[in-house]
Amino acid sequence: MDKKGLLIVVSGPSGAGKGTICKNLLKSNKQIKISVSATTRDPRKGEVEGENYYFISKEQFEDMIKQDALLEYASVYDNYYGTPKKYVLENLENGNDVLLEIDIAGALQVKEKFADGVFIFILPPSLEELKKRIVTRGTESQKDIEKRYGCAIEEIEQVIKYDYAIFNDDLQRATKDVEAIITAEKCRVSRIHKNIKSIF
Ligand code: 5GP
Repeated sequence: MDKKGLLIVVSGPSGAGKGTICKNLLKSNKQIKISVSATTRDPRKGEVEGENYYFISKEQFEDMIKQDALLEYASVYDNYYGTPKKYVLENLENGNDVLLEIDIAGALQVKEKFADGVFIFILPPSLEELKKRIVTRGTESQKDIEKRYGCAIEEIEQVIKYDYAIFNDDLQRATKDVEAIITAEKCRVSRIHKNIKSIF
């Protein structure tokens, strides 16, 4: 059977819990590969090079742009973030599903190139809860907390550009919702029509 992998793109404001949902999803769905992004932001305590991100300099990032090595990139909260192209294309070609956890500007670039990807937006239950989550995770300075929270309303308004939206008021349910979306997407006739021929 000729079967390409599914490209799954997850976005949402900082503190919506998209990182935790993605981690949960990967634990129970080993066929999904996560794309590790390149970034110019400093590593947070506990973050591992090549696992959380490839932490590179602005010059190295700009070289990757010049070499057309990125599928998409954006400046998010004053740093560059981008998706290395090779890993994503190779895995999709080999039939593996690939998960991108990226910001909205990046997701829209991906949508231009991969119209058949699935685009999922994670919403917080409220703005109050969103701020509480950013503050309690304790990874950002006060200035960065304000910056991230300040962008949230504008980011949430972009939800209309996505295929699906999930309220993350309950982590387990939200993860199950993402799994259900992936299952349904894989059953789309437009995706499997080539393989239907093999029945005859
Ligand atoms: P953080 O600094 O909290 O790890 O990530 C900040 C934002 O950058 C998040 O919204 C995250 O989804 C986004 N991000 C992470 N990697 C990429 C990427 O490769 N491309 C884009 N466009 N955004 C990314």
